[in-house]
Amino acid sequence: MSPFKNLINARPNDQFFDLPSLPMTPEGIARSFQHYYAYTLGRDRDCHSAYYPYKALAISLRDRLMERWKCTRQAYDNAGCKRAYYLSLEFLMGRTLSNAMLNLGITDAATQGLYDLGIALEEIAGNEPDAGLGNGGLGRLAACFLDACATLQLPVRGYGLHYEYGMFRQVIENGNQIEEPDHWVRDGNPWELERPEFTQRIQFGGWTETHKDATGRELVSWVGTNDVLAVPYDIPIPGYHNNTINTLRLWKAAATDEFDLGEFNSGSYPESVARKNEAEHITMVLYPNDASENGKELRLRQQFFLASASLKDVLRDWIRLNGRDFSQFAARNCFQLNDTHPAVSVAELMRQLMDEHGLEWGEAWSITSQTMAYTNHTLLPEALERWPVRLFERLLPRILQIIYEINARFLDEVSTRWPGDNDRIRRMSLIEEGHEPQVRMAYLAIVGSFSVNGVAGLHSQLLIEGLFRDFYELWPKKFNNKTNGVTPRRWLAMCNPDLRELINETIGTDWVRDLDQLERLAPYAEDAAFRARWDAIKQANKRRLAETVEQACRVTFPVDALFNVQVKRIHEYKRQLLNVLHVVHLYNRIKRGDTKDWTPRCVLIGGKAAPGYLMAKQIIKLVNNVARVINGDPETEGLLRVAFIPDYCVSLMEIIAPGTDLSEQISTAGKEASGTGNMKFMMNGAITIGTLDGANIEIRERVGEENFFLFGLTAAGVESRREHYDPNGIIAADSALLEVMSLLESGHFNRHEPGIFDQIILSIRNAHDPWMTAADFRSYIDTQALVDEAYRDRERWLRMSILNTAYSGYFSSDRTISEYNRDIWHLESVLPRPL
Ligand SMILES: *Cc1c(COP(=O)(O)O)cnc(C)c1O
Repeated sequence: MSPFKNLINARPNDQFFDLPSLPMTPEGIARSFQHYYAYTLGRDRDCHSAYYPYKALAISLRDRLMERWKCTRQAYDNAGCKRAYYLSLEFLMGRTLSNAMLNLGITDAATQGLYDLGIALEEIAGNEPDAGLGNGGLGRLAACFLDACATLQLPVRGYGLHYEYGMFRQVIENGNQIEEPDHWVRDGNPWELERPEFTQRIQFGGWTETHKDATGRELVSWVGTNDVLAVPYDIPIPGYHNNTINTLRLWKAAATDEFDLGEFNSGSYPESVARKNEAEHITMVLYPNDASENGKELRLRQQFFLASASLKDVLRDWIRLNGRDFSQFAARNCFQLNDTHPAVSVAELMRQLMDEHGLEWGEAWSITSQTMAYTNHTLLPEALERWPVRLFERLLPRILQIIYEINARFLDEVSTRWPGDNDRIRRMSLIEEGHEPQVRMAYLAIVGSFSVNGVAGLHSQLLIEGLFRDFYELWPKKFNNKTNGVTPRRWLAMCNPDLRELINETIGTDWVRDLDQLERLAPYAEDAAFRARWDAIKQANKRRLAETVEQACRVTFPVDALFNVQVKRIHEYKRQLLNVLHVVHLYNRIKRGDTKDWTPRCVLIGGKAAPGYLMAKQIIKLVNNVARVINGDPETEGLLRVAFIPDYCVSLMEIIAPGTDLSEQISTAGKEASGTGNMKFMMNGAITIGTLDGANIEIRERVGEENFFLFGLTAAGVESRREHYDPNGIIAADSALLEVMSLLESGHFNRHEPGIFDQIILSIRNAHDPWMTAADFRSYIDTQALVDEAYRDRERWLRMSILNTAYSGYFSSDRTISEYNRDIWHLESVLPRPL
C-alpha cells in the first residue's frame, strides 16, 4: 500500500512523521554521499567537475540538519518562549559545509567516510562558493551572532534578503579593481529551503484613504498599491555540539500573478508582463557600499521589503500560537535592528498593528517601543541614512503619515522637557528641514527603540557625547554598549585546525564554547617546548598563506619573514595609505643601504572598494604599483615583499588570519566603531599594531600593553589637533616622511601613468585631511621599528603570540550575545528534545 494513501483525505499519522535518525558514522555519511552523487545528481565516473562531489556532500549533511532543525522549531513553539529577531540587510555567511560539520561534530567521520572512497574532504569543501550577502564587518557580525545564538540555544531568528547577486567579485587588472557580478546561486544553493507557504504580500506606492468604522473610530487604508510577493528561503544555523538548529530567513521578491487588466486588454501584453518583472528587481543585488550613504530608491524598497515581510511573518506566527490577543506580544518578542538599514520597521510595525490588526495608536506604540532595539555601527556622518520626504511620499505614503505622527508626539515630549528650546526641537526632529526635507532614519530608530547600543566602549561613549547627545540627555537609560565579538568556531576551531588540536591537547576542549578558558594557555607562554610547537603551527599556516598569495598575486612570500597584513574594506578612515607610506619608507631605507639588523617583511593588503568610491580605488592602484616596483627591484630580495590580494572575502580570511604575524588596525582614532578583523587576528596569535580606536582599546587592555604595538593620536587628540593641523609643516620637519612624499611625488610608482596619484598625494598634504595621515606617520614608523626588533627575538615574539590567543576570550561573540541577552532580549535557552 502506498504510504501516501492517507494524504489524500487528511494529515498522515504520527508514524509517518517519525523518521529514524540518520547515521553520523563514516559509513553512513559515505552511503548518503554515493546516493546523492549517483541518484540525485545523476553523475558517474565520467564527470570530472569538482562541484558535484561538493553538492552531494552538502545534501548529505543537510539531511542530517533537517531533523534537528524541526526539533528546534517544535521546542520553541512548545516552550511558548520569548523570541528575538535579528533584522539585517546583510549576512556575510561565507561557506557553510565545514562549519556545519564542525558544529555537528562529524568532521572526523565525514573525512574518514570520504577517505574510504578515495576523496579528500578539504578539496571538496573548497568548491563551495561563499555566500557573500554582505559588505564587510556589519554583515559578518550578523553571521557570527547567529552562530553564537544557536550555540547558546537562544530562540533567535535572523531576517535578511535573498540577493541574487551578492558582493561583487574583485579582479585586479593592471592594478585596478574590476567588479564582476557574483551570481552565487546560479548552480542552486543546497543550504536553503524554499518555503512558499509562508509567502507575504508587500505594498508599495498607492495612496491612503480614511474612513470611520461603526463605532466612529478612524481607520486608514493603504490602497492602490503595486504589490510584490516576499518568498522566504530558510537557511539552517547549527549550534555547536548541541542539536539546536536556528533559522536565517531570507526574503526573495517575486511578482504577483496579477496583471493590469486595462493594459493587458489594450494590447500591451508584453509591457504588462515585463512590469511584473520589475518586482523581482528588489532583491536582485546587494548594494556594495560599506559605511556610506546610498540615496537610491531601490535601496529604500529593499529596506521596506525586509521590514514589512519580517514583521508580517512574526505577527502571523504570533497569531498562529496565541490568537489575536497582543497584550503579551511585547513581553515575548524583540527586534534587534542591525544599523539604521531596517529602521523603517518602527513605522511599519505601527502600521501593521493599527491598520491590519485593529490596535489603537497607544497600544501599538507601547508594543513597538518595547520591542525595538537599535544597534549603531558608525560615527561617520556620510553613513547616517536620510531619505527624501518626497521619496517616502511616493513609495510609502502610509509609512510617512505614521512617521509624521510619531514625530509630532515625540517633539511634544521634547518641548515639555525643554520648553521654548526651539533649537533643540529642530535638532531632534525626525524630519530634517531644508530645501529637500529628509527623514532621519537614525532618529526614527532611537525614538522607536527601548535600547540603543554602540559596538565598542569608545564608540558607545562617543555616540552619547556627540551624534546622539540630545537623545542621551532625554533618555540616558536607553543607551548602552555591546562590544562586538567573533565566533571562535569559524575563526579559530575551523580555520586553524592544527592550533585547535594543540589547544585541545593542552587545556581540553571546553574552550570552543567557553572562550575565556583560553587564559589557561597563558602559563604555557613560558614553556619552551610549547612555544616550539606553537611556532611550528604558525610556520605551517604561513606556508599555506604564502601558497595562496603565490597563486593569486604571483608574489613569493618567504615564510621566515614577518607576515604583515591589512585586510578590510578600502576606506580612507582605515588608512591603508598610512600602511603604504611605511612600505615606501622601508623601500627608501633599502635603497639608501640602511639595512643593518633588518627584519624581512612581507606586506599583504587586501579589500574591496565601493565601486563609486574613487579615492578607495586609487588606493588599490597605488598599492599595486608600489608592489610592482618594490618586488621588481633586485635590491629588495630577501628584505621586502608587497602584494595586494584580490577578492578579500570570508573564506580568504580563513586562510589569512592563521598565517599572520602582525595585524594592522591603524584607523584614525575615533572613526572605526569597533573592528572585528582585529579580533580574528588576535585569536589566531597575531600581534596588533594599532591606534586607540574601536575595540583595539579593549584588545590592548586584555592582552596587556607589552603585547600590543600602540601608536598615534587618541580620539581626543585627533579632534584637538584639527584646528592647527599643518601636514606640510610635519612633512618638512620629518626627513623620512619628506623622502617618502618626494618619491611619491616624483612619479616613481607611476612612470607611465602621469598624474594618477595626484589626488592621493594632495590629500595627505591637505590641512583639512579628515584622516590626519601625516600626523601619525612618525609614531607609526617608530612603532614599526619596535615591531621589527621584537620579531627578531623569536622567543619573545612567540610569547606575545601565545598571550594574544590566551587573552582573546572576551572577543567571542558568545560573550557579546550573552550581554545582548542579559541587557536587552531577556531570552531563556530552550533545549530541543534529544534525538
Ligand atoms: C571580519 C571581516 C571584515 C571586517 O574587518 P574589519 O577589519 O573589522 O573592518 C570584513 N570583511 C570580511 C570578509 C571579514 O571576514
